[in-house]
Order: sequence, then structure tokens, then C-alpha cells
Amino acid sequence: MPVVAAVAALFRGGGSGGARAAWLMPAVAAVAALWASWPAAPAFAQEAPVAPPVVWVLATGGTISGGGPSSTSLTEYRAGAFSGEELVAAVPDLARHATIRVEQVANVGSPNITFDDWLTLARRIDEIFRGDPEAAGVVITHGTNTLEETAYFLNLTVRHDRPVVLVGAQRPATAISADGPLNLLNAVRTAAAPEARGKGVLVVMNDEINAARDVTKTSTYRVETFRSRDLGFLGYVDGDRVSFYRAPTKRHTAGSEFDLTGVTEFPAVDVVYSYVEPNPVLIETLIAEGVDGIVLAGTGAGLVSRVERAALERAAALPATGRPVIVRSNRTGSGRVVPLPAYDEQGMIAGDTLNPQKARILLMLALAKTRDLDDIRRIFREY
Ligand code: ASP
Repeated sequence: MPVVAAVAALFRGGGSGGARAAWLMPAVAAVAALWASWPAAPAFAQEAPVAPPVVWVLATGGTISGGGPSSTSLTEYRAGAFSGEELVAAVPDLARHATIRVEQVANVGSPNITFDDWLTLARRIDEIFRGDPEAAGVVITHGTNTLEETAYFLNLTVRHDRPVVLVGAQRPATAISADGPLNLLNAVRTAAAPEARGKGVLVVMNDEINAARDVTKTSTYRVETFRSRDLGFLGYVDGDRVSFYRAPTKRHTAGSEFDLTGVTEFPAVDVVYSYVEPNPVLIETLIAEGVDGIVLAGTGAGLVSRVERAALERAAALPATGRPVIVRSNRTGSGRVVPLPAYDEQGMIAGDTLNPQKARILLMLALAKTRDLDDIRRIFREY
């Protein structure tokens, strides 16, 4: 009942985004009536603690806060139409699992997330964990398009053990069968779970818990979009409890060496995607621009063509300080990129299983510390 009432209130126009769908009210009322006649059996009762732990929800926008003109507008809607407060208010069951404190950090579609947003999030989480001993964990609501990038950045820069959980939705808040409310509930339950401590930054969607390092968005519209491919997800969020079956082994959060103190900007690192007959102008332009690093989304096991290698060789002739550091990743979506003599001799670094967008983040943070190739190689082995 409370969920239905809250969603109904949202539909009536309570939302700041003004998504009004009064015509949906008969359907909502019918569902409410059905629920009212249901025998009282509180879901997730076994987990409900006596004094719920504190979980902070930092809202940044995305489809989870999206509003469209009708309940069947699944692809046309405005991301960030609802505030974090409204998302939380629409899921009253949250109160059975946590005392929620909400803050709005941004309210954008995630293609528009910026480095400033990352710094704001990392610093705010640090403040929360230092200043609020009651805080069990933090949930970040985020658009799914770049959610994995924000998650991996925080995995490398939030130096605390307590859980940080990113969550989004594939359907806007106004959609029929919107996935956001249950995803938010599951994210909060995970952030409140003692088992989630020390497992790095997590991504919870579709009842599955993934590690920030390994997860990627694999589908444009399907709700099972977040996958960790070969490496698998860490656990489930089910009605009875939050269950973990494995934990990340690469360095993260409390074990990370990356310190954001005094950082206001990052070295410039860009990604170049490989394909048949590539245009060397892309690499040449980046080098001429003076970028600090380039990640190659190579073919197969991180290979690039003669054309691209020739463009990179021209960079190798530059003095060490003017030469970008090159990391080989790949465009296949899974598997390792391993060191290969022919590439290593040219000073290139193997990106292991990091996809290009995550290899970019690790290279940005590495270059903010060092330009020593052996040290950067070590970093790519350890994180
Ligand atoms: N366009 C959206 C975003 O990334 C997609 C989503 O949230 O699912 O903000």
C-alpha cells in the first residue's frame, strides 16, 4: 500500500519534473485495492533490524529519476525529472531497512557526468564516513550509461571499508514496471548489509551485486544490462537476505594508493577504437594536442594495425615528457590483454581485463602520481 500511495502521489504531479499521468490513477487504484486485500506478510521481515542503520543516498540523475509523458514511454523521457528526495519518498519500505539521509549532488543524464561530479562524490563520501560514524553505507543513484565509470573511479579513490553502492534503472520512474524502486530498495539493503563491507564499490541492479571493476553495461534497454561477463557477479539480493558468494581480489577502496587531496583536474587520457583501415589522424591529433595518455581499444587481444603503430612510433620519437603513455585494452568486451614483447618494446602497457573506459580511469589516476612506466605497469597489475 505505501508504495502504491507514493507512486500515485508522484503521478498526481507531486514530482518536481511535473510528470502528470492522471489517467493512470484507475490502474493504480486497482493495484492498491488488490494489495489491501492481500494477507499481511511483510516482505524481507527476517532482515528488518530493530534500529535501522543509516544509509546516505546521493542522487545524480539518470533514468532512475526520469519522467516521461506516459507509462509506456520507455525510451522517450527526461532523465533527472525527479529529485533524490522524491525517489526515496516513492519507496516507503526503505524505512524498514535503513534510516535514509538524502542529498542531491547532480541531476543529469549520465553522459553529462563530469570529473567535478566525481570529485564532489568522492569528497562527500569521505566526509560522510569520517563525520557520521552511524553511516553504514552510501548509495548513489546514477544514469546507467556511465555508471560503471563513476563506480570504478570511486572504487579507486574512496579509501574506506564501508559500502558504496551505485544503482540505476533501465526504465524511467513513470514507466509501467519501472525497475528503479526495487533496484533502489536492493541497493539500500546492500549498503546496510555488514557483509558488503570491504568488497569495494558495488553496482546493484536487477537483484544482482557486481564489483565496480568488472561490471559493464551490456544492453541498451534490457533490465539485465549490468554484467561482469567471464568473472561473474558477486551475489544476489533476494527477499530473505543479501548474499555474497565471492569478493574482489584486486586492490580497491581502503587498500588503494590513489589520494585525491589537492586534486582539481586529471591528466588528459583518451580512447582510440581500432577497426579495419583506421584513420591515423585520430592518434596523430591526440599526440599533437599533447595528451598524457592514450588507451587503445584494440582488436582481439589488444592488437592494433600497422597504420596505428606507425602513428604511435612517431610519438615514441618525442622526448619522454611529451610522449603519451599508451595502454592496450580491447574492444571484445571480455578476456585479458597480456604483455606482448612487440608492444612492450614500444613502451605500451597491457590493460589486463579492464575495458577501455576503465583502463582510461586507471591511467588518469596513475599519471596523476607518476610517469614511470614500470610503476604504471605495476598499477595495471594490481588494480
Ligand atoms: N540516459 C540514461 C543515463 O545514463 C540512461 C540510464 O540512466 O539508464 O543517464
